[in-house]
Amino acid sequence: MLAQDGEGVGRMHTGCIEVVCGSMFSGKTEELLRRIRRARFARQAVQLFKPRVDNRYDALKVVSHEGVSADALPVAHSEELLGCVAAETAVVGIDEVQFFDPAISGVVQRLAGQGMRVIVAGLDQDYRGEPFGPMPTLMAIAEYVTKLHAVCARCGAQACRSQRLVAREEQLFVGGAATYEARCRRCFVASAVTMEL
Ligand code: ADP
Ligand code: MG
Ligand code: ZN
Repeated sequence: MLAQDGEGVGRMHTGCIEVVCGSMFSGKTEELLRRIRRARFARQAVQLFKPRVDNRYDALKVVSHEGVSADALPVAHSEELLGCVAAETAVVGIDEVQFFDPAISGVVQRLAGQGMRVIVAGLDQDYRGEPFGPMPTLMAIAEYVTKLHAVCARCGAQACRSQRLVAREEQLFVGGAATYEARCRRCFVASAVTMEL
């Protein structure tokens, strides 16, 4: 069995990048928090970040759709994140990483180069089904990529897309269960604005 994440690597201080991706409701935040919790059990110094744009639930916490949460530091951009990472930190977690500026991939590379285990979670596709912001680059430079699936709200198949249920065209429109649902490739409608949902 191949290693699915860098848990062992983190202990060796070799540094690595892990990407947890998938559609909305696929369990990215749950998986990120699970890895963070295990690192804390191993008494590793952990820092958890989130982009400041996303304040759906709580400005100072990362919260899953099931309500599981952990304290997190909101940062406005990748440079601010870099400035907040303490030298003694062993594991850096970042949720909703798709919302960061393109420089986030360089910041993550640098932290991993310093021996940190960097775990990032984010949407691999936007509401149109297009690759989301820095995700393709992060997935390419990562040692470990985990792609999770939700359950299609229409047919129950494995879902890989996030269907926007409101007519908004901007890529960054933060919402929850009222404004998005998970859909499979077949049930997904690419343009929420002009087509019948
Ligand atoms: P993500 O961060 O990927 O958006 P979360 O980790 O916050 O996802 O939440 C995952 C949880 O969402 C699941 O454990 C499940 O309880 C719930 N959930 C709600 N709708 C769905 C769905 N359509 N498919 C799968 N899980 C769903
Ligand atoms: Mg999430
Ligand atoms: Zn479907």
